[in-house]
Amino acid sequence: MTADTLQIEIQQTTKSRLQEVDFDNLVFGKNISDHMFVAEYRNGQWQDLRVVPYGDLSLSPATAALHYGQAIFEGMKAYRNDKGEVLTFRAIDNWARLNKSAERLCMPTIPEDIFMGGLTELLRLDAGWVPAQDGCSLYIRPYMFASDPYIGVKPSESYYFIIFTSPVGTYYAKPPRVKVETKYIRAAEGGVGGTKCAGNYAGSLYPAKLAQQEGYDQLIWTDAREHAIIEESGTMNIMFVLDGKLVTPKVSETTLDGITRKSIVAVAQHWGVPVEERVITVKEIIEALKNGSLEAAFGAGTAVVISPFATISYEGVDYTVPEVKPDSFVAKVKTYLTDLRTGKVEDPFGWTVKI
Ligand SMILES: *Cc1c(COP(=O)(O)O)cnc(C)c1O
Repeated sequence: MTADTLQIEIQQTTKSRLQEVDFDNLVFGKNISDHMFVAEYRNGQWQDLRVVPYGDLSLSPATAALHYGQAIFEGMKAYRNDKGEVLTFRAIDNWARLNKSAERLCMPTIPEDIFMGGLTELLRLDAGWVPAQDGCSLYIRPYMFASDPYIGVKPSESYYFIIFTSPVGTYYAKPPRVKVETKYIRAAEGGVGGTKCAGNYAGSLYPAKLAQQEGYDQLIWTDAREHAIIEESGTMNIMFVLDGKLVTPKVSETTLDGITRKSIVAVAQHWGVPVEERVITVKEIIEALKNGSLEAAFGAGTAVVISPFATISYEGVDYTVPEVKPDSFVAKVKTYLTDLRTGKVEDPFGWTVKI
């Protein structure tokens, strides 16, 4: 899996923008690092692997992805440990998930050595962009899109695979007020909800905007048939602590198989905390909120790690979610995952990899 046998051409920037970045006030998605990894798929093969200065692409207005949405992405993070070394977290799982999305969208899969080799070369070159500040990290965005200049509806024959990165700060936002969505849907059985395809996010903007106008920060998505089963929250997986157990919807074709979710489940099991991955109804959660058996409700995803909810709203009634106490499972697992990713504690799971 060495990048040497891969032949990645490296063209270093002559004008680093690193000095322009205010690492004490990082805004999510605003600063993009100096370089990007690019691979192009043509004639049935990934080729022209290169790490080049981050910059614009020149594309035909007929570029297939812009018309029919053959586009998928991933999101992950790299961290700096106390020794200054750069660590990735479960990158191999992001690679596997990208390929799962690719298959569903009729796109070519990416071989492991190209994904990991490209990522490694990129992180080596832009290692200086990985923040050292507490709670900060380097957000990594791998993505693929159809690039045929052709507007017939069919799978494209050419694609770009690109990775770029962006230093990001702590997510200080206050606990969100979330609304159970009972009209619009994110995903339906047989659809593409289980993939990280671009269109899923476009479709979620409008219902999210309506909820914001009503004073909520985010939605809880429910099943497409009856709006009775809880699926996800915004672009995060959803998890609850109920009667001392960690309870989360089981992964299905209408929920995304989140790596943060998976990690929290594994840590809970490692600690001997009972875990239930199952169908969770809205009714059950509202009952638990009413009778006090709901200890916590939170979203889980790479961007925020864990985002405890302040309020859950259902059919016009706001229910207050108990605050996270410092000695609770939620607080502990959040700290532990951060410590694991930054190499502060030993990693018994083999999730962190040194670049
Ligand atoms: C990316 C994503 C998640 C979270 O996945 P992580 O691997 O934990 O970042 C959850 N739900 C949706 C819809 C997503 O797109």
